[in-house]
Amino acid sequence: MDDNNNNLAKRPLKIAVLSRNQKLYSTQRLVEAGKARGHEVHVIDTLRCYMNIATDKPTIHYKGKNLDDFDAVVPRIGASITHYGLAVLRQFEMMGVLAVNESMAINRSRDKLRSLQLLSRRGIGLPVTGFAHSPDDIPDLLKMVGGAPLVIKLLEGTQGLGVVLAETRKAAESIIEAFISIKANIMVQEFVKEADGADIRCFVIDGEVIAAMRRQAPEGDFRSNLHRGGTAHTVNLTPEERSTAIRAVRIMGLNVAGIDILRSASGPVVLEVNSSPGLKGIENCTNKDVASAIIDFIEKKATSNRTRIAEE
Ligand code: ADP
Repeated sequence: MDDNNNNLAKRPLKIAVLSRNQKLYSTQRLVEAGKARGHEVHVIDTLRCYMNIATDKPTIHYKGKNLDDFDAVVPRIGASITHYGLAVLRQFEMMGVLAVNESMAINRSRDKLRSLQLLSRRGIGLPVTGFAHSPDDIPDLLKMVGGAPLVIKLLEGTQGLGVVLAETRKAAESIIEAFISIKANIMVQEFVKEADGADIRCFVIDGEVIAAMRRQAPEGDFRSNLHRGGTAHTVNLTPEERSTAIRAVRIMGLNVAGIDILRSASGPVVLEVNSSPGLKGIENCTNKDVASAIIDFIEKKATSNRTRIAEE
């Protein structure tokens, strides 16, 4: 079996990077890393794929051409196009193409509440988190999560937008009321003060943390997102942080993921598992070739899609 895998790994593969923008750093790096290994790599604009699903031979068409014989697809599907993007990815899966992350796993990870529920059920450390629907239940919800200060998050937010710190109960109530009045979905979370404006991004591929960085919020902010002016630093993970990251990704069913962890007084707590983690911040900070590590994974797992269709 090993021999067989080695032969497959050496064969040039045809790889699709599903991305809306070929100029993005992550997209470019994946293309570069794939080509450097002798593979054929195409950037496919997710929203330009159209599909015939009512057929016994599923196909994807792209700008007038049939997308066939791809061995693997790297989904880089932005949150705003999750629904259509996952339909395209599912079509690749139906055609027997290896998906670096499968549509089911991405879908699971895009639902923040569901993700936290899954992680909590398996004993992963999380900040105390609550959610409610009715404004009438807010006062009790605030008590339930331990009172102010609290972090209030828009469920649909990314890159730190829609993450607000409420220092007092009164502030928390007003913010929540405002969000509810515009029908925004939110969750309310214990403020992990001792994290001191820093979080840790672990990049996991195939069950291993291959790079990690500590992001520090700019002065006066508690959000460490690099897009919000946070700075990145190298970090040594504790064994507990490493195993938390690996377990969280496994629970979500992802092969490639970025996990955000806070250092709390009671140990590592997971904020989020991201199925399309950016490569720029982590590669620049750690000098690790994360893109090639993703190509390594594809080489290890890709088999001829013709064989797979025949097996089905
Ligand atoms: P997004 O998905 O929009 O990046 P996050 O939930 O990751 O939102 O929050 C953004 C940043 O805010 C985190 O990287 C972290 O630095 C900080 N943060 C988020 N939640 C908490 C919390 N409960 N306690 C302390 N800091 C937090």
